[in-house]
Order: sequence, then C-alpha cells, then structure tokens
Amino acid sequence: MGLCPNMVSGKDLTSLAKRRLLLFIPLLLLLTGFLLYSGFSGSKNRPVTREDFAMGSLVVQRLYGKNAKLAEQQTIDAILQTENQGISWRVEGSDAANINAAAGSHPVAVSRSTYDLLQTLKKLSDDSGGAFNPVMGALTQLWNFDENARRVPSESEISEKLAFCDSQDLEFTADGQVYLRRSGNRLDLGAVGKGLGCDIASQMMTQNGCSGVVSVGGSVVVQGSKPNGEKWGVAVRDPFLKEENQIGILWLEKGFVSTSGDYEKYFVRDGVTYHHILDPANGYPSRSDIKSVTVVCDSGMLSDALSTVCFVLGYEKSLPLLEQYGAQGLFVFQDGTIRRTAGLDFQPTGGSHEEK
Ligand code: ADP
Ligand code: MG
Repeated sequence: MGLCPNMVSGKDLTSLAKRRLLLFIPLLLLLTGFLLYSGFSGSKNRPVTREDFAMGSLVVQRLYGKNAKLAEQQTIDAILQTENQGISWRVEGSDAANINAAAGSHPVAVSRSTYDLLQTLKKLSDDSGGAFNPVMGALTQLWNFDENARRVPSESEISEKLAFCDSQDLEFTADGQVYLRRSGNRLDLGAVGKGLGCDIASQMMTQNGCSGVVSVGGSVVVQGSKPNGEKWGVAVRDPFLKEENQIGILWLEKGFVSTSGDYEKYFVRDGVTYHHILDPANGYPSRSDIKSVTVVCDSGMLSDALSTVCFVLGYEKSLPLLEQYGAQGLFVFQDGTIRRTAGLDFQPTGGSHEEK
C-alpha cells in the first residue's frame, strides 16, 4: 500500500491538531454563545419554539424577536389564567363555574373580560338565530365528547337537557354581574377558548415586539414580519384524511384562523358519525352541507366562535354572518368541493378536492 502524498508525519500531525484546536475553541465558543442566545432569547431570524397544554389542546409558539422567550412565558401564563379563572366551567372558582353554580339562584360578579365575552357571545347567538349557543352546557355534558363518552343519549334525555339550552336565559346586570335564569342552565365556552388563547398570544407579541405563529388546537394567530419577508402560510387540514394531510395553504400577513370540523371529537355508531358540534335546534350533532370550515378574521375569539357556528349553519346561511362580522371563510363540503369567500389568499395543494 503506497503512502498518500499529502499524508503528514506523526510530529506534524500533533502540531497541526494543536493549531486546529486553538482555532476551533473560539469558534466553538462563538457557536455555543449564538445557540444559547438565539435559543433562549430568540432573534429576528431564528424562532424560539415552545409547546404547552392549555384549553384542552396543544399550544405551540414559534416567536421571533429578542423578547421571544419572555413573550411565550407570558402567553402561556395568561392563557392558563383565562382558562382557570375565567372560562372553564370545570375549574372550581372560575367565573364560568361560579355562574353555573348560581344558576337559577343569584347573579355573580365576574371579571370585566368574562362579562364582555359573554355579552359578545350572547349577541352572536342572536345574530346567528341561536345556532351559536354559549348556554349549551347541559347538553354538552350529557354527550360528554370531551371525555370520550361514546354513548348516544336517549331522545328523552336530549329533550330534557335541550330545554335548558336557551341563550336568552343568560342575563347581565348593569354593575358587571352575570346571571343564568334557570337552575338547569349551564355555560359551555368550549367553542371560543382556543381563539381567545390566540388573542392573548397576539397581545403578548405586540407588547414584547415579537413576530411569529402561535397555535392553540385548531386556532392560529400569525403576526409581525417574517424573516424572509414573505406572508405567513397556515396549512388547512384535509377534513377527510388524517391530521398531517392538508388541502392547501392560506397566506396572510396578520390575522387569526380557526377551523371547525366533524373530525375533532367523534365516534361512529351503527354507521352514523356523532361529533362534538351540536345543533341547538335539536340537540344532536349538527348535520349541514359542510365537512369543515375555516374562518379568518381580526379577532381570535370571533374566528373560533364563527367557525363553530358556520359549521352548524351550513354554507348559504354562513355568508351573511361572516360579512356582518368582517370575516372570511373557506368551506369544505361533504362531497369534497371547496368554496371560499372573496379576498382569501388560498393556495390549494392538490389532492382529490376541487375548488368551485
Ligand atoms: P374544537 O373544540 O374542536 O376546536 P369548536 O371550536 O368548533 O371545536 O368548539 C366545539 C365546542 O363548542 C364543543 O366541544 C362544545 O363545548 C361547544 N359547542 C358545541 N356546539 C356548540 C354550539 N352550537 N354553539 C356554541 N358552542 C358549541
Ligand atoms: Mg370554535
């Protein structure tokens, strides 16, 4: 075996290695410093990524900016606070739990934000002819999709609970108190928690001068400039396939995107799919012409509430409501066709679905 012409002797090798090592150490320090810096505080070009669990969902934050880490901590803290002190009926002592506990008995003092939220939701209930209903807790607890109950309640059970699902039973006093009129009334704000989480993320990004993407389950917020100057792309899930499949990408500079569909929490019994979005008109999982609907608007809470209610209303009845709320929608129909309102920058990524 011949010697390779540029092979070096043992002595040369040691001194070369030493020289390389000397060069390498500062480089290594620089690199570690950079990684630590960008990993812990974020930068204009490198996001800080963080995952948590709140509002019954995975919260994924990818923020850019030197205060990214702080903004993410503040975001998750505030989301948990809103969930535990404001809107979760499951958490003892929250505004929602207190209102439920006092149903039919007395008004309850709540935080300003809960008061305002409930007023907005009552108005949306009126504007949607009752298809959106924040007072459906009696029924949602009966179906119990959150705990995967997989039981179809009897007709009499449904009609008994449905009688207490009237948003007109939700009342407000002028001094900031909230009241459910009848003892069987229950709030369930599950339709808006994730969108509210995105509103909180947006506030924290603004306060900390960050840009980025935050998703709370099926709701997403994007804001601020992207390092490459492009718009943000939000993938829209294919409701007929598994989670990783998408029908296309929505491109936005800033805004909130929420999707509701019958694939999130459901079970199949005797060939019928029972899912977690209920039609307040009959107490059963809603059956419209839509398989999933994605709503884009400038409020996370409203994008979430509107996606739920559009799913119940179906395509034609959703359009005036979206217009009234300055929102846009992308509808996937039961037969796989796709329709969207004007002004949405949507790029289909193929598959079996056809846009009409
Ligand atoms: P997801 O929880 O999958 O994001 P949605 O945002 O569409 O879905 O909200 C569904 C939740 O909203 C249900 O789990 C229930 O708590 C509540 N809900 C179901 N039907 C209605 C309705 N018609 N109006 C208001 N809230 C509803
Ligand atoms: Mg919703």
